[in-house]
Amino acid sequence: MSGYTSVVVVTTEEHPWENKGNSLSEIANRVEDRWNAEIDNGDNEFTMRATVDDYKVDINDRTDAETAKNEAAGYLENSNISMVYDVVLVMDDYSHDAANGYAFVGSENNPAAGTYDRGIAYCTKGDYHLAEHEVSHTYGGLHDHHDEWGSYHYTIMGNPGDKQCFEDNTTSSFRVRNNQYNNCAQQNIRSYVNEHRDKLNY
Ligand SMILES: [Zn+2]
Repeated sequence: MSGYTSVVVVTTEEHPWENKGNSLSEIANRVEDRWNAEIDNGDNEFTMRATVDDYKVDINDRTDAETAKNEAAGYLENSNISMVYDVVLVMDDYSHDAANGYAFVGSENNPAAGTYDRGIAYCTKGDYHLAEHEVSHTYGGLHDHHDEWGSYHYTIMGNPGDKQCFEDNTTSSFRVRNNQYNNCAQQNIRSYVNEHRDKLNY
């Protein structure tokens, strides 16, 4: 098996990312490194390449992160960028009142990563490993698959109130996301890639 799934990170015309702490390239590297350390199985069967493109997206309506993501998707529909990459992660410096990220959760029957209109994720500040979190949603990563390895170190997919992926139903009351995938998230994502390999850049 060779090839890789591809993610591109872009910003917006209105609120371009201004390198607060991490540049977009550093964020792209972080997303790729973490994925290749934990989602890839060592046989290059699930490899990811994440890059940055200078292309800028236009978002007019920012009522909430979901609306912003849908606006970005509409804009990208008229470009060729979303056809080249499996996921487009749009990041900017806008500050939302509520959630700062949104992505459609891919599943067997409703794919996201690798599709024209739903393989698009949006987020603002990079706190709580939001970039990794939103990208993982498009590959089928689920919230109710948090895990705890130590005090308040939860998986990339963890959210307050979510259930642990193993059966004891422990919930997380904090959103402190360790930059790590737990087993359940790894399984979700690998099975998404296996199911949709024909749509992804493999
Ligand atoms: Zn989420």
